[in-house]
Amino acid sequence: MPDAEMSAVAIVGGGWAGIACAMELADSGRPVTLYEAAKQLGGRARGVDWNGIRIDNGQHLLVGAYGATLRLLRRLGTAHLLERRPLQLCVPGFRLALPKLPAPLHLAVGLLLAHGLSLSEKWAAARFMQALKASNFSLPEDITVSALLRRHRQPPALIDKLWAPICIAALNTPVAAASAQVFCNVLRDSLAGRRADSDLLLNRADLGRLVGDAALAHLGQRARLGEKVSGITQTATGFHLAGPEQPAEQVVLAVHPSRLPALVVGLPGMAGIATDVASYTWQPILTLWLRFATPTAFPFPMLGLDDGHAPWAFERNGLAPGMVAIVMSADGPHLKRLAQHLRDEYLALLAGALGPLPELLDWKIITEKRATWSCTPNLSRPDNTTPVPGLYLAGDYTAADDVTDSYPATLEGAVRSGVKCARLILETSR
Ligand SMILES: Cc1cc2nc3c(=O)[nH]c(=O)nc-3n(C[C@H](O)[C@H](O)[C@H](O)COP(=O)(O)OP(=O)(O)OC[C@H]3O[C@@H](n4cnc5c(N)ncnc54)[C@H](O)[C@@H]3O)c2cc1C
Repeated sequence: MPDAEMSAVAIVGGGWAGIACAMELADSGRPVTLYEAAKQLGGRARGVDWNGIRIDNGQHLLVGAYGATLRLLRRLGTAHLLERRPLQLCVPGFRLALPKLPAPLHLAVGLLLAHGLSLSEKWAAARFMQALKASNFSLPEDITVSALLRRHRQPPALIDKLWAPICIAALNTPVAAASAQVFCNVLRDSLAGRRADSDLLLNRADLGRLVGDAALAHLGQRARLGEKVSGITQTATGFHLAGPEQPAEQVVLAVHPSRLPALVVGLPGMAGIATDVASYTWQPILTLWLRFATPTAFPFPMLGLDDGHAPWAFERNGLAPGMVAIVMSADGPHLKRLAQHLRDEYLALLAGALGPLPELLDWKIITEKRATWSCTPNLSRPDNTTPVPGLYLAGDYTAADDVTDSYPATLEGAVRSGVKCARLILETSR
């Protein structure tokens, strides 16, 4: 079909979901316009300027199982900016390293050789993974991760050292509140997947360079920065976007879920979805950026600074020599601390892990208050298609085809959703 006959798609929101959707449609020759309220693309995973250095709005971690994300990065020509390392979880008193062996040997040998777990704790971990595997990682009902771990008689020390840190890192929700089904999905695709799926993919550039800038270069005039859409209404031929005052035949809303209800007040068919999404609660992520006079000596680029719910430190010399990010997931008392006190506490933890630190030149705390939605059991997540014909949703919160494929609020969830949305649009117009 020549361009002139094709319907124009407007995408509202240039986070990784909106970008993935726009790239997919643009690659298929579909006329598409991406409206982004901010001055750059990337949304919750973007570059931020800090005294002449480009850092991230918050420290992110990618894993080998992020297939859709890796495909997008290859398309953007930035996959080489990720450094692939076999998984190592190093926290004080505990170390799990997965050797370069074929699955599932890598996990069995990794657990057997783990430091800081008793033999019975290692056996309990292996038994737990085996039981989940036997049930295809599918639970008869969704419960909390705590309840699941209790059901499988997981010892408290094993929960504190292994399961709780994985749950907080992947779901950004504490074990007591987190969805066991989504936790199982993550375990299946990482620890129990192919060995390469559990690899850590460490971003050596900033998030803007990794995706936002490259996507802008690809999309060119099709990406409209600083263009906030304030509302959407239906017209005889499709939709009208208030703000840019533009028509569109199809619309993809790829905004943060907290922004959705206000955008769709003019669309009665969206009332049910807006009510569901308005009931979500949010989890913050805090990142302390440290700039030392000289590079610090990390034994591994990612180090847990304590067990359970504790910060993780990342070596970020790729941004500028001497850069370190310390990230603290989810809600907690740390958010009430004075910034200087928190900095001193985290510096002490870092020194505990690395020994004496070089001179600190500068520091900055960035707290993303609505970094992710709380990933709780049985959360109602909308499909990409909506009751309003021609209106689609993309974003990390949309539903997968099956609950056993549901991801938490992650880059991979966002990218998968954007790609799926684009394919639905392309299929309906075939
Ligand atoms: C600090 C932090 C750390 C994280 N760590 C990890 C991690 O380690 N690994 C991982 O996989 N995930 C992590 N995440 C989660 C991940 O960043 C998100 O899941 C993902 O970026 C969501 O992408 P999205 O496109 O769905 O939404 P968003 O990124 O929220 O994109 C929505 C976009 O819509 C725009 N917008 C909103 N309203 C309008 C409007 N009216 N008009 C036009 N534009 C609008 C916004 O400006 C934004 O750019 C982290 C998130 C944060 C904040």
